[in-house]
Amino acid sequence: RIVYVNGDYVPEEEAKISIFDRGFLMADGVYEVTTVLGGRLIDFAGHMARLKRSLDALDMEAPAGEDELLQIHRDLVTRNEVDDGLIYLQVTRGNPGDRDFAYPAPGTARPTLVVFTQSKPGLADNPAARAGWKVISIPDLRWGRRDIKTVQLLYPSMGKMMAKKAGADDAWMVEDGFVTEGTSNNAYIVRDGRIITRHLSQEILHGITRAAVLRLAREAQMEVEERPFTIEEAQAADEAFVTSASAFVMPVVEIDGVRLGDGTPGPVARRLRDIYLDESLKTAI
Ligand code: PMP
Repeated sequence: RIVYVNGDYVPEEEAKISIFDRGFLMADGVYEVTTVLGGRLIDFAGHMARLKRSLDALDMEAPAGEDELLQIHRDLVTRNEVDDGLIYLQVTRGNPGDRDFAYPAPGTARPTLVVFTQSKPGLADNPAARAGWKVISIPDLRWGRRDIKTVQLLYPSMGKMMAKKAGADDAWMVEDGFVTEGTSNNAYIVRDGRIITRHLSQEILHGITRAAVLRLAREAQMEVEERPFTIEEAQAADEAFVTSASAFVMPVVEIDGVRLGDGTPGPVARRLRDIYLDESLKTAI
């Protein structure tokens, strides 16, 4: 696999980053994951807009313009012959030459830009979407600026492992009694045909897929309510699902051991998945 590191395309085993890079020492970095279907990028503009937002929130310099980033994404898709898969982009504050809590003075460290691909043949035809996911609930112990897409992913990783150990597929995180989101996705329930998902704030990541799915739902005359919900309300819901760039719309069929409905993916989640995939393919670049 060829990867991109700070201006160069190199075989992955030759890619090098300094041990003083603040991404490595302090998780001082942000990232984006863009999905590739049929060799084309899904909602690239949305991911670039969120990248800019994350960079601005951390006073971090942009590593390149959007046109250049698009070119890098396309070059890697071509070089690695990615048909279906993901493109991971990470920007860190770079290598100031030594470890220090203070950010490096402007001009003394350049951001580090790393981009690589992950091929996932048949990504859109995931058998898991036909069965649906089981989720468990765990306390949300992350930091308070979850709207910034930083590379501090240790707690979400721990959450994924807790889910696996419990025989589930993911964990929904709960704060002050309400579900925030999944370890790497936004969470939804459906009651009487109405789609309920937590409103945007600093408590959750502003999912690019969330924005697209809510827009498409409204365009299809479905009712959407943006407000927090509890695990108990979710367990009593007609259906549930999560969204993310790589899982698209993934039905949830069980929460903390309680089956929703008949334990199979619900009609709203299935319909939204179809609409989202259809629209994504139409507008991919
Ligand atoms: N929430 C969290 C915590 C995530 O990590 C992700 C995936 N990056 C999402 C939500 C979904 O965001 P998106 O639809 O942009 O992939």
